[in-house]
Amino acid sequence: MTPSLHESPAHRACESFFYAFLLLGLVLLPQPAAAQTDWAAYEARAVELLREYFRIDTSNPPGNERRAADFFCALFTREGIECQVFEFAPGRANASARLRGDGSKRPILLLNHTDVVQAEAKSWSVPPFAGELRDASLYGRGAQDMKSEGMLQAMAVVALKREGVPLSRDVIFLAVADEEVQSLGTTWMVEHKRELLEGAEYLINEGGENIIEKGVVPFWGVDVAEKTPLWLRLVARGKAGHGSVPLRDAATHRLARAVARVVNYETPLRVLPEAQRELCEEARVRRPREAEQFCHLQESLRDPAFRRRVTSNPDWNYLLRNTITLTVLRGGPQTNVIPAEASAELDVRLLPGEDPQRFVQELRRVVGDPTIEVQPILTPLTSLASPAGGELWRVFEQVVTRHFPKTRVTPRLLASSTESPTYRRLGIAAYGFCPFVSTPADANTSHGTDERISMEAYQQGLRVLYEVLVGIAGKR
Ligand SMILES: [Zn+2]
Repeated sequence: MTPSLHESPAHRACESFFYAFLLLGLVLLPQPAAAQTDWAAYEARAVELLREYFRIDTSNPPGNERRAADFFCALFTREGIECQVFEFAPGRANASARLRGDGSKRPILLLNHTDVVQAEAKSWSVPPFAGELRDASLYGRGAQDMKSEGMLQAMAVVALKREGVPLSRDVIFLAVADEEVQSLGTTWMVEHKRELLEGAEYLINEGGENIIEKGVVPFWGVDVAEKTPLWLRLVARGKAGHGSVPLRDAATHRLARAVARVVNYETPLRVLPEAQRELCEEARVRRPREAEQFCHLQESLRDPAFRRRVTSNPDWNYLLRNTITLTVLRGGPQTNVIPAEASAELDVRLLPGEDPQRFVQELRRVVGDPTIEVQPILTPLTSLASPAGGELWRVFEQVVTRHFPKTRVTPRLLASSTESPTYRRLGIAAYGFCPFVSTPADANTSHGTDERISMEAYQQGLRVLYEVLVGIAGKR
């Protein structure tokens, strides 16, 4: 909690005012209740604190997440909960708080990131860093990704402490910086504070999908795995020359032939248990007549018509195979010049458990031209899956059913990426679990314009997350 050398005095003055405000607010929090928990008071406070949090501009770059880390530690410290700020670069910091259990079970980590993507204020209808409340929705950059969930994690920890819930395991709150750009915060934790993370059994992170449509939430999607990005560059080299005298083996020509083979290549289909369950659950709700087929994919995919139907739907196709997308093509600087070099970039996403080296070998065979180099753009890591079962999974099911009796908890395989794979590699079962529901319109504001969350959904999310923590960490 040492003040950063890089903060201006004006900043500090602003912060002291801010802490005074925070302290005043905390006094208004409910005192430990003997019988009944005063949820209305917790929920009102969670809303006020989220609006404060939105006002801390952590647009990344540059991030400036130190103020967010201080904000969380001020909240925890005043509640008598141990909290540490780790400043790993000027103005950039992580925060970690811990509620102690009796140690009979391994800890659970609540992970959130404090940085947000930038906001183009002129295209918003409210200022993105003002914490506006309008039409029963809270507006601010981070409302969906992921300041709301971070604040709910903090408030759930505060509520566990205030309510005096006896714990069988430690509950660790971890707010990291820089998730949106380079993951410097998580990388720093793994390199320098590994002892805080290792040994944890579970982790709850961003992700998941709980869309409410016409008052109904058909699925409570919990992310159990994600695909691994394996970005590759194909480079062809050859003789340079004048465009008026074509060369059959020009770099551009050889690249074009290789790229055509790559984009026409169909990677083999592979039905992972997670994808099988996700598609089966979805079919049971949305297309009950086809449920049988979708619940036995291995067999059904032998039928060419069904196979065509599934693979031509991009949202199903990516769940069942490694995918290759051609995204960048580079060649000559002008129309009449044959360049000496041409290159293409491929955004490859591998299914969990795939070996990246083996895939590169497979791709070389498809390229079919040994003079074309296949270069890695980023270091690929094999990704792991967390089980769609076990103690935490059962708690998710119990709590979700209590709040939404008709909703099914469904595992999801994520096409994009979060920091969960890093924690899975430490032996922690990590889940993308969102405690609140969103309308499709609200969910689509993530990283977009007028990012917002419904106040009702946010407040209900506090109860959901609190009950999950009581279920997994409370002593029975
Ligand atoms: Zn995020």
